[in-house]
Amino acid sequence: MCGRSSREVEFIGSLCKDCFVKRYGIARLPEQVEVTYCTSCHAHRTSGRWSDPYPSLEESLTDYLEAYLANKVKPVEPLESVGIDGVRLELQGGTATAYVDLEGSYGDVKVKGTAVVKVMLKPTLCPVCSSRKTGEGYTAVVQLRSYPRSISEVRRLSERVQRIVASIGDDIVKVEERKEGLDVYVREHSAARVLATRLRSEFNAKVIETYKGRGDRLKLYVSVRLATVSPGDVLEVDGTPYFYMGDSQNGLLLINLETGKRAVMTPDELWDQGFKLYEGQNLERMMLLSRQGNRYVLVGDEGSIEVPSDQVEAFTESVNEGDHFLVYLSRRRIYLVRREE
Ligand SMILES: [Zn+2]
Ligand SMILES: [Zn+2]
Repeated sequence: MCGRSSREVEFIGSLCKDCFVKRYGIARLPEQVEVTYCTSCHAHRTSGRWSDPYPSLEESLTDYLEAYLANKVKPVEPLESVGIDGVRLELQGGTATAYVDLEGSYGDVKVKGTAVVKVMLKPTLCPVCSSRKTGEGYTAVVQLRSYPRSISEVRRLSERVQRIVASIGDDIVKVEERKEGLDVYVREHSAARVLATRLRSEFNAKVIETYKGRGDRLKLYVSVRLATVSPGDVLEVDGTPYFYMGDSQNGLLLINLETGKRAVMTPDELWDQGFKLYEGQNLERMMLLSRQGNRYVLVGDEGSIEVPSDQVEAFTESVNEGDHFLVYLSRRRIYLVRREE
């Protein structure tokens, strides 16, 4: 056809490979493909099941077409095999055109070409998005409440909460902000429990499950009370002041500020005994005036005190003259609880 010989170009049968591709193409593909997709999250439907959401419709369609066409593509005779190199998409209104890059082989001869497939778009709402829109379709409500600080009071806290809530993603039907906390409506009981467990381990939360309603309307309510305390806080548990050092595997690490003894308390023990932020009179803001020899001099609103250094214990990393501290004055010791601005 082009007049070239087999010394100049590879041949397939009686045609050079370029003329072969021009006349027969490389593969047989459907001329037209229908794709059902979600207008809200761009997920697509594959043999009755919905994919995960996509950041863009283009990516979603490309992924669908690559997988779908890979199953349908057949080499034209006498090519032995064909594969899809990639799919490029052109979107216009309700239809799209897919340019499918193909590579076929015939013995040692490789041929490349592009096929065009028309894409019919079927927009709809996936079940996740449609139940989210109507606010129905939930079987559980996780009610986040916090104590002693409100979630919105501390930005760092609310960011951590948002991140954990977002971690169950598609299972969330809706989130309602209330004065006293957050209500998270969840599709499945299992996801509600996963959320509660994550919050429990991150915030020493107390979790209580109850059921409300009956029959089809039976809902699981999971009350999650977050202990919004941080290392560095002074807590009062059952009338005793404790310094909260941090968390261990077995619970909260505390120092009894009256006896100086360390204690580990599980979150359940903490909640059962009752706790609050310590607001008693032994806590004072003071400045370290001097630290000479083995004596500390501290000054506060109530005057100054001078104590031997072996009666001072600091929970802060460094102690320098001129620093301001939150100080707990017990009968036996002086605790520098934390640095103050
Ligand atoms: Zn030719
Ligand atoms: Zn959707």
